[in-house]
Amino acid sequence: MARDPRERESATLPFDDFPVAKGGAPKPQAYPVLSIQDSVYFPGQVFPLFAENAQKIAAVRAALAGSGKVVLATEVQPVSEPTTGDDLHPVGVVAEVLNAQEEPEDGGGLRLLLEGLFRVELADYTVDHDALTASATELVEPETIPGDVRLAALARTIRAGFESLAREGVGIPPDAVAAALKTDRPERLPDLVAPWLDAPIPEKLALLKETAHEKRLELLAKLIQREREAVRAAPLEIDLDAPDTTEWEELFQRLEAAAPPTEVAKRAESALQRLARSPGPTPESEGLQHWVETILSIPWNAEAEERVDLPEAEQLLNAAHFGQESVKERLLEFLAVRKLAGNRLRPPLLCFVGAPGVGKTSVALSLAEALGRPCVRVALGGVRDEAEIRGHRRTYVGAMPGRLVAAIRQSGVRNPVIVLDELDKLASDLRGDPASALLEALDPEQNHAFHDHYLDVPLDLSQVLFVATANRTDTILPALRDRLESVPFPSYTEREKLGIAQNHLLPRQRESHALEPTDLELTDETVSSLIAGWTSEAGVRELERKLGALCRKVARKRAEEKPFETPTPETLPEWLGPPPLRPDPLPPPGSLGVALGLAFTERGGETLPVEVALTAGMPGETRLTVTGSAGDVLQESVRTALSFVASNLDALGMPQDSLLGRHVHVHFPSGATPKDGPSAGVAIACALTSALTERPLLPELAMTGEITLRGQVLPIGGLRDKLLAALRVGVKIVLIPEANRAEADALSPEAVGDLEIRLVSNGLSAISAALSAN
Ligand code: ADP
Repeated sequence: MARDPRERESATLPFDDFPVAKGGAPKPQAYPVLSIQDSVYFPGQVFPLFAENAQKIAAVRAALAGSGKVVLATEVQPVSEPTTGDDLHPVGVVAEVLNAQEEPEDGGGLRLLLEGLFRVELADYTVDHDALTASATELVEPETIPGDVRLAALARTIRAGFESLAREGVGIPPDAVAAALKTDRPERLPDLVAPWLDAPIPEKLALLKETAHEKRLELLAKLIQREREAVRAAPLEIDLDAPDTTEWEELFQRLEAAAPPTEVAKRAESALQRLARSPGPTPESEGLQHWVETILSIPWNAEAEERVDLPEAEQLLNAAHFGQESVKERLLEFLAVRKLAGNRLRPPLLCFVGAPGVGKTSVALSLAEALGRPCVRVALGGVRDEAEIRGHRRTYVGAMPGRLVAAIRQSGVRNPVIVLDELDKLASDLRGDPASALLEALDPEQNHAFHDHYLDVPLDLSQVLFVATANRTDTILPALRDRLESVPFPSYTEREKLGIAQNHLLPRQRESHALEPTDLELTDETVSSLIAGWTSEAGVRELERKLGALCRKVARKRAEEKPFETPTPETLPEWLGPPPLRPDPLPPPGSLGVALGLAFTERGGETLPVEVALTAGMPGETRLTVTGSAGDVLQESVRTALSFVASNLDALGMPQDSLLGRHVHVHFPSGATPKDGPSAGVAIACALTSALTERPLLPELAMTGEITLRGQVLPIGGLRDKLLAALRVGVKIVLIPEANRAEADALSPEAVGDLEIRLVSNGLSAISAALSAN
């Protein structure tokens, strides 16, 4: 079974209470079997899995119709499908199906969430209604003796090793470490720790099979030690039973070689002396040792040599990225200044701003490559704890350095490019202020001595080149925003998407699915249908995913040596399932009180439909209700548009009292999505007028523009993205503010397509341009 690449990241933490076998010899019981490849799951582990073939789907259905449980068995070698069970490893884990969801996109598979329950030995496979079934006997574990010294000692070694592995930045989440530190049942450690180790399958199976606790912990300790040695350049003995002098000598030598600044060297030396004197492993000495190891792992002096070759850089950018000419231009200017000034000038802090999937992260990687410096990404989305940036104080259990220190260690040099991804998603709350820690890291006055709480010695970040990415700038905290120089990444036109797909995405996806170019070639027409029918986005992420899905299916046909025909626009639904139904935002021709506005959001341009209903209200007054998750600014736009219409009833050919005694209800579908911004003013005024005068607007019309009380139409942002969104849903005519004329003139013909653009300078001219003649 193809292993879901997200498995490791998204596997949640094993629970701390486990089913324990009680009394008597266990009886075998029949369970439906899920065969798995290249992985072993443990009791207590909660993990996602994808059931992609008929046999596995049948097994899940059988489980759901019965006990809700399946047994997971690892394939000894990749097996043919369906399997009869001969090729499965005889030890597995029984798991409860917590959730099963149909995934129409992937040819009818089931996306599962499972929780491992207990170890079993498998025998007697049968095939029952397509599903493979096995008889499973629980592997009963002996009782533990409370206070077993040997187990406690092994547990200490394991915990220390696991903690320090986590610090090496191999992707072990802090919660997993916390769970291992917390459990008071040492015999459960293998189940908590093993899922995070990168150990070979046979060794993980051995851990699963072993019921004797001491043996199991010994096996685990060995695995951890091996992994640590693999991760670290200079291996360290993790058995702390007897501190042997050579170990300290080696640490002293490494300290000398690392040659940190004098102050740091002194602190590390005195820590090492204290360690060498310490009688045995104590929590303090273990903590101190981790700290010394962290200090030793920082590239205090290693530096990447920066070289800037402009023609080469241009070539590199062009080879990796289709289009985005304005962005490339800006980056080449940036590189030119670096070439001339070197380190003499402080580089500006570039922030790549644009919708998801428009290439911000990949351009940042290319920039680093053009500079010849290693690049590390630091994801800031949802970071609200200052400790994530600046580390924990060392007194905290499971303390670790922050993400900036981790990034420097990962890069191996003191001058990497660090991409601060999703700067606009950085939050701040009671757990300290991650933004101010970040500001200190970015501030040239302070960042030669950045303070990480865990490191507790100054770290020079002044040679790091920071680049940020964001979906929008208005939600970036102002103090940070002031330091940035925004580089806007426009959304893609349909034609650019086609070019990106044919030149980059499809070849890349083919390659990662081991396909030859001739195995899957798509005509421009097919790719265009795929874009129009199966994606709806400003960038190319969904597109890349869909091409991946096609490649996967082709790879399977090739592997099974089944003949197949190249997908065409007509046969795409057979490959990808029917295109998803999306509500058509265009109002049906002739409807009253509806208009299609355009919004600029962090996902790029989007349509923003407006509906107005007028009903009888209290005599002598006009009541207003606004629904549909409208933000404050949008609500103000509604009030302004209403007042504008109310004060122009004459000009609209309506009696002065036509709004009196009426209840005006303005609604923004889809109601649950929050919406905001001032630029829907014109659309609201038009919808209102249409409801009031009972005249429909022109069909296939969209509009954008802020409106003032006096009816002036003010300019809007995100014009290009809004027009692209209008084109995507089939709009033919767009009203835009006269004040955006120059910007509209400068747009490429492609971004405009065959849209008819009408410029409007005030509310009344907008309304008359929008109302249909009949
Ligand atoms: P962002 O950081 O803006 O969300 P990414 O850099 O992650 O976007 O881009 C998403 C995917 O699309 C990546 O695989 C990227 O290489 C690809 N991609 C985006 N724009 C282009 C382009 N202009 N040319 C080639 N590939 C692109």
